Amino acid sequence: MAKHNIPYGRQHIDKEDISAVIETLTADFLTQGPKVKQFEDAFADYTGAKYAVAVSNATAGLHLSVLANGLQPGERVITTPITFAATANCIRYAGGEVWFADIDPDTYLLSLEATEKLIKSKPKGFFKGIIPVDFGGLPVNLEAFRNLADEHNLWIIEDACHAPGGYFVDSNNVDQKCGNGAYADLAVFSFHPVKHIACGEGGIITTNNEKLYKKLLSLRTHGITKENMVENHGGWYYEMQELGFNYRLTDIQSALGITQLKKNDAGVLRRNEIADRYKSAFNGLLKYQTLPVNCHNAHHLFIVEVKDRAGLYEHLRSKGIFAQIHYIPVHTLPYYRKIGYGNADLSMAEAYYGRCISLPMYPTLSAEEQDFVIHEVKAYVNG
Ligand SMILES: *Cc1c(COP(=O)(O)O)cnc(C)c1O
Repeated sequence: MAKHNIPYGRQHIDKEDISAVIETLTADFLTQGPKVKQFEDAFADYTGAKYAVAVSNATAGLHLSVLANGLQPGERVITTPITFAATANCIRYAGGEVWFADIDPDTYLLSLEATEKLIKSKPKGFFKGIIPVDFGGLPVNLEAFRNLADEHNLWIIEDACHAPGGYFVDSNNVDQKCGNGAYADLAVFSFHPVKHIACGEGGIITTNNEKLYKKLLSLRTHGITKENMVENHGGWYYEMQELGFNYRLTDIQSALGITQLKKNDAGVLRRNEIADRYKSAFNGLLKYQTLPVNCHNAHHLFIVEVKDRAGLYEHLRSKGIFAQIHYIPVHTLPYYRKIGYGNADLSMAEAYYGRCISLPMYPTLSAEEQDFVIHEVKAYVNG
């Protein structure tokens, strides 16, 4: 049998994607041209948000989002420990303090109850915001988080990097697509190739708030503007009115994003078919991420829990199946330990980390490959 090489996630680039990039390479603009706005409009339309701002990667998007919300040094923000480090790091970039609340042991999402308990254990105004993550592609119930946030005057940034195409159904029976801006102030998506939509590097921020939108546009390009200027010396004149960055996405990447986005619904459908096969294979044998009723999981990941996780990881590797661990709890990473999170009580997150493993999950994973993964997992778990 041919040697397998099955990663946990991978991009799918087709001829249409390649043509779109080549066409842009010979067009007038490689960056700051029409493809960027075209991609932003298409993405806003896809999520149902009013505005979208494309950025160089989702980490930059999270940074700008925290700044747009006005976070000041020393101010405190709550997030989940089971996420990629960037979710927490953006708070540190702005000089803020990261506070972690524990996860729900079945959905693996930031626990609403734990978040509420943490908020209520502190004086009024102690926290400024919450950054929940649509972890693995499973949408957070943002309606519930919005109610909590409104009660305590907090903003919400939805880290939707795992979940383009996911949705939950709110109490009015309305589908609420990830990043639609109905409940969160801002949402951030990633276009790293392991995520749903590949741009090489890339990210986008969505919002329904015009003021936040304008702030993001300014911060993305050095804080430079030609609007509302103090002076005007002529056609060349611009003003830098605040300290911003160069966090732009190129037209080359945007062209790829446009064609990739068109295929996202098909990709999510395919991911759900694969998830269904995994679930029927592992039902009763292994615990996997629970889907609350009325939720549509975009399935960036398919995670199972096993007692001998390290053993399964090594076994799969020996067979050419490169499963991954999502994630090492952020509060246990040396940087966060050093600034004092090592002893936080996040026991659900830590127990989860001891058992979790993400199996291969991407649209081009063939039926034979799925069978092979299922066979090898079962062979190991059943001894
Ligand atoms: C990938 C990811 C990020 C960062 O995305 P980049 O585009 O690589 O900067 C942030 N948060 C989560 C949850 C992610 O999975």
